[in-house]
Amino acid sequence: MHKKGFCLPKKEFGTLFTALQSFGEVIAPVKKDKFLRMEKIENPKEITWEGISWFSSKKYVFPEKQTLFKFKGEKTEKWNENPSPKVLFGLRLCDLNAFAINDKLFLNQKPKLPFYKKFRENLLLVGLWCDTPQDEYCFCDSMKLQHKYDLCLFDRGDNFHIKIGSPKGEKILKKLKLKAEDYEKELAKCEKKLNTTDIKKYFENNEIWKKGEKDCLSCGTCTILCPTCLCFDIEDESNLKGTCGKRCVQWDSCMYKDFTLVSGKHHFRGERLDRFKHRIFHKLDYFKEQFGESMCTGCGRCIRGCPTKIDWVSLINKGTSDK
Ligand code: SF4
Ligand code: SF4
Repeated sequence: MHKKGFCLPKKEFGTLFTALQSFGEVIAPVKKDKFLRMEKIENPKEITWEGISWFSSKKYVFPEKQTLFKFKGEKTEKWNENPSPKVLFGLRLCDLNAFAINDKLFLNQKPKLPFYKKFRENLLLVGLWCDTPQDEYCFCDSMKLQHKYDLCLFDRGDNFHIKIGSPKGEKILKKLKLKAEDYEKELAKCEKKLNTTDIKKYFENNEIWKKGEKDCLSCGTCTILCPTCLCFDIEDESNLKGTCGKRCVQWDSCMYKDFTLVSGKHHFRGERLDRFKHRIFHKLDYFKEQFGESMCTGCGRCIRGCPTKIDWVSLINKGTSDK
């Protein structure tokens, strides 16, 4: 992390906005129909400064459906677009960390998704620090989040303190000639906590998971909303004659029954209990074993958006404290 920080009077926010627009179109939190969404804005007045967006921003690196290649007759055309540069403004620390987690999977691992890198390189991530949790579902302070951003804004009354987290961010801020200052702020304290101590021990304790199994509709909402759920399917589409078509990557969900169905009708996680547990253990344990950190950032979206409000954090806490 770069320790440098600068002071921007709020009345001069427009100068930062113009500098951000020089990078690319600005996407920021905007409240519409009761929901906070990340949308393209032209004017800083459109920004909603409180709350966390209902959807995560993963679609900006991993669209719902992405063509890999098209074919017509003998001719094949690989995806080779140049995505337009975008500034994602107002991301909370949970979502900034989600980008870092997704990078581990798709930038540093093989096989690499060809489009991910291009989309990612064309993003500037600008954080907005949480002084308090955004609602009762947040539990980010249990997840050891790090300072991962290009720039991050801290609200200091009449001013913003802006920290630089990358050379990309530094280049933008240089345009503003701001006064340097020292300022450190701890992460907001959440009432909701997740106790992951010795979580492995509770894998077999089905009592913890039974409520999840009972209430889960296998709807996949949790995975769609989660900033680090990146399960996908590959689908081929063609005309009836098979003379032209395309291959696409599209979002899928490990909560769907058919996700692990393979030929010969072998079903690796045909039971809802197994699917429910798998998602949680992938987030908290399997990923950690491979990459040394949790895959969950404590954004709370999977609980906030679950139609039956399954609170898996409470289920785990209860299970771990019962022992
Ligand atoms: S959102 Fe809730 S009900 Fe739907 S699959 Fe996830 S846990 Fe199950
Ligand atoms: S598992 Fe839930 S709380 Fe964790 S990052 Fe995904 S949506 Fe957020």
